[in-house]
Order: sequence, then structure tokens, then C-alpha cells
Amino acid sequence: MAKALVIGCGAVASVAIQKIAQNHAVFKEMVIASRSVHKCEAFAAKLNSEHISVLAEQVDADHVENVVKLIEKHHPDIVVNVALPYQNIPIMEACIQTKTHYLDTACAEVRDQAGFEYGTQWVYHERFKEAGVVALLGSGFDPGVTSVFSMYAKKHYFDEIDTIDILDANGGDHGYPFATNFNPEINIREITLPGRYYENGSYKVVPALSRKHEYLLDQIGPKNMYLMYHEEIESLARFIPEVKRIRFYMSFGDAYLTHLRVLENIGMTSVKPIMFQGQEIVPLQFLKAILPDPSTLGPRTKGKTNIGCIIKGRKDGKEKTYYVYNVCDHEASFKETGSQAIAYTTGVPAMIGAALIAQGIWQGAGVYNMEQFNPDPFMDMLNKWGLPWVENFNPVMIEDYED
Ligand code: NDP
Repeated sequence: MAKALVIGCGAVASVAIQKIAQNHAVFKEMVIASRSVHKCEAFAAKLNSEHISVLAEQVDADHVENVVKLIEKHHPDIVVNVALPYQNIPIMEACIQTKTHYLDTACAEVRDQAGFEYGTQWVYHERFKEAGVVALLGSGFDPGVTSVFSMYAKKHYFDEIDTIDILDANGGDHGYPFATNFNPEINIREITLPGRYYENGSYKVVPALSRKHEYLLDQIGPKNMYLMYHEEIESLARFIPEVKRIRFYMSFGDAYLTHLRVLENIGMTSVKPIMFQGQEIVPLQFLKAILPDPSTLGPRTKGKTNIGCIIKGRKDGKEKTYYVYNVCDHEASFKETGSQAIAYTTGVPAMIGAALIAQGIWQGAGVYNMEQFNPDPFMDMLNKWGLPWVENFNPVMIEDYED
């Protein structure tokens, strides 16, 4: 029976917390700790039951010593980091010092410079190894499930993979002219970076949101998808060494892109501090403060997400294409957890990764990406815990598919 310490209590955490509480065959105790304790207390009051004991704590996880103190007080088996990517490094450091398993859902970032590389977390491998515990990186949907999908394809359907195209489409509508589906600061930093994809051993860079394809996607119809950089490109290239090309596409509506361009043009998406009325502020953090809080979008959002991978390669000398994806309904997610599908599709895999480590089904010592473990138990749990997947061996979804 395991004890989880969840750090962060926002949109993604709210789903991860509820799924951990539901999985009482694995988790018997949970501590929820975040910067603002009131949300943690509300969950603790709601979820504490005969099946699981839930406690709330306050923590500022920017500081290693605070996290160490919290871990030493509660002795969790695993820390589930669903705070922000700025907290990854201090929480990892605390997990090394206390010899505690670690999990996150997004690559580490620093506040004053947009961009991310797994190198900043991979350097901790030897220290996690010495501590004898696992750090599992990127156990959300993308990154996360997309890597598990790719490794499942490699294990069961391909001798060699040539290309992977990851498609993250949101057919949901929340009725606001402009709002982001997860933390606006993290989301806008990611989207405004130059597009980057992997081809023949190196990265090709294109201007942000400059490459568009229209894909026809199951249950959500045609969507304009834009090439972006995403962290699983880096881990997939490392762990599927024969792969020739990996691209990541995300869907955006025209109204969203028009708002984003205006905000960029006037400097509102900048992460560089400016002086305002005698006080230093970061324009993007100010923008976050006035945009709708993603955790309030649940009741307003209708429609579905469709996220998956188109994988091409060879099996027994024959060319083969495999498409694997999940469709998640915003309204059904809200009905079950009070959160829309973006938080749902991230929070469920966070619980699954934590459960597999807590049970020793995924085990090791060091820093690991999702690609390094057996995909089968994770794929089984996706079906069981609310994210069933669909396979298609003959996908026809895009006019310029071969581009
Ligand atoms: P939210 O902004 O909704 O929640 C973040 C939470 O972290 C809040 O509870 C916040 O507290 C807390 N927090 C922030 N700073 C600190 C700190 N210094 N110490 C302790 N707690 C802190 O974000 P989301 O739930 O939308 O996103 C959570 C994570 O999930 C992010 O890392 C994001 O990148 C990742 N993600 C991953 C996806 C995937 O598919 N892999 C998809 C979507 C998101 P407070 O309430 O005080 O602000």
C-alpha cells in the first residue's frame, strides 16, 4: 500500500488527486501540498474516506529545503509533481536527498527564459541511481502517453520505425474569445517558441506556427494543426534511435491565433521583466492574471480532444502505417472530475505512472523517460482508468499526408 505526496493543486492536479483516491488498491494515503493550501484542504475534506487517508499541507516548492522538510514529515513512497515546470529541479533535488521516487508531467523550465530541454533533468541520472530511486519524467498525455503509444507500436507492430507524427487536437469550445486550456503562462511560452522537428539526426527549426496541415480526426472532424516543438521529440529520438523524423502538431482555431499574434505584437507574451508603476512585473505573468483560470473552464467546455501518433515503418520487410489515439470528451471529464479534458488527459497518466512505480511494476534507479519502461501495463491501465485508445492500420486523414 503506497503513500503519494502530490505537489500542486491546480487543473491537472485536481484530476490526478481524484484518480489516486479512486485507485485505493494501490494508494492508501495521500498528502496534497501546494502554494495555496485552501484548494488542498478542500480536496482533503472531500476525499478522505475509509479507503484513503488524505492530508493537506502548504509548501513553496521553489525551495529544496521546504520540500525536504515536507517529505521528511510524511515519508511518501512517491512525489507526484503536478505544480509548474519551474519546480521540477527543486523537487527532484529534494527527492534525491530523501531517497524518494519522483514523477512529473512536463520538462523543467526556468522562469526568465522560455524553452526546455531534457538535458537539465537527465543530468540527475547518476544521483537518482545512487539514491536508489526512480525519477519518471513526463507522465502526462503529451509528453507521456504519446511516448508509451510509440513504444507500444515498436514492441508489437514494427521492426523499425521511420517516422512519428504526434497529433494533439482539441475540438472543445469554452465560449471565451481567448483562454488557454492549461496554465496560460506555461502554455503561451510553449506555443510562441519557434517550431522544431527532428529529421535525420538533427533538428530543423521553422518560425513559430508557420507550418499548417489540415487533419481529419475521428469524432472532432477537420482541424488546422500547426507544427510545434514538444519535449517528447527529444526523448523519442533518443530511445528509438533508428527513427528518421519526428514531428509534433497541435490544433489552434483562427480566433485563438489572431488573439495570440496581437498579444505577441504588443509585448504581452514577453517573459522579460519590465518596470510598471515602480514595480517589476513580467508581462506574461500579468496576462495570466487577467485570463480565465483554466480550472474554471470545465463547466463551459463542450466537445472532445483527439491525441495520438501516426507511426510509419517496416515489419518483416513490409511498409506499415499505424495510428493510435485517444478521444476524450470534455463534458464527460467534467462530469466525473469537475475538470475539462486537457486536465483529465494529463492527470490520469500521472496517476498511472505513479501507481506503476509505487507497485514496482516499473522499477529501476535513475532518471527515466516513459520510453524506457514496458508500455503494456500502462496501455492496459489507460483503458481501465478513463482514457481508452483506438488503433487504425489504414489511416486516411490528410490531403498532403506525405509532406
Ligand atoms: P495550474 O496553474 O492549474 O496549477 C499549478 C499548481 O502548482 C497550482 O496549484 C499552483 O499553486 C502550484 N504551484 C505553483 N508554484 C508553486 C510553488 N512554488 N510551490 C508549490 N506549488 C506551486 O497548472 P496546470 O494544472 O494546468 O499544469 C500543471 C502541470 O501540468 C504543468 O507543469 C504543465 O506543464 C503540465 N501539463 C502537462 C501536460 C501533458 O500532457 N504532459 C498537459 C497540460 C499540463 P497556486 O494555486 O498557489 O497558484
